[in-house]
Amino acid sequence: LLEVSDLFKTFGSGEAETRVLRGLSLTLAVGEMAALLGPSGSGKSTLLTILGTLMKPTSGCYTMLGQDLVTADDRALTEFRNRHIGFVFQFHNLLPDFTALENVVFPTAVREGRETEQARERGRELLVRMGLEARVDFPSANLSGGQKQRVAVARALMNRPELVLADEPTGNLDRDSAMQVMDLIAEINRDEGTTFLISTHDEKIASLCARQIVVGDGLVTG
Ligand code: ATP
Ligand code: MG
Repeated sequence: LLEVSDLFKTFGSGEAETRVLRGLSLTLAVGEMAALLGPSGSGKSTLLTILGTLMKPTSGCYTMLGQDLVTADDRALTEFRNRHIGFVFQFHNLLPDFTALENVVFPTAVREGRETEQARERGRELLVRMGLEARVDFPSANLSGGQKQRVAVARALMNRPELVLADEPTGNLDRDSAMQVMDLIAEINRDEGTTFLISTHDEKIASLCARQIVVGDGLVTG
């Protein structure tokens, strides 16, 4: 699905220089469910941001689905990202006054300039799969933390992305809600073949993934 090689990312310069990624290489195959493990500050979020095409590396190669994403311009990257990549963050970033369904459908509607019945149907179906059938029309402010995060997963899946990048998606959840979110992600991975890369501090969460990628010193160390 994707390959990065010899990836470098440096922030700042002079005294303030931080060399976060230092020649990191990694491949992800279609259908993998992989955990990204590493201590705080090891560059997990930086790597996910680059893989998500939200930031360019300082140097190195990145191709996904045969496309070179280092040399692509911003417009091509935006289009590529919208079509192929979904995101889940530690803080769900839902719009509190909007219902669960509106939150799932809204980004697509904004992008396409209209909200179709087909999109609402897809959104509803995803919320049902996330075990939120009874919460489809609930204001998202009134959902529990675990429910909000399941809405965020549904939102990430809306456009049928090949890759979902999740940055500590269970970081704010208790053990039971975290397990539930991970079970649902595993189910989507198994049934739809969606590739997931999930950063976490939590070994137990990581052990639910078929593969563990450990980062340290700006490289993949295991
Ligand atoms: P955590 O587990 O705490 O989320 P992380 O592995 O996700 O950590 P990153 O957020 O990728 O780590 O940060 C890696 C290093 O890069 C840190 O030292 C951080 O301060 C630095 N860094 C990240 N983004 C920037 C930025 N925009 N400007 C300057 N430094 C940055
Ligand atoms: Mg991080």
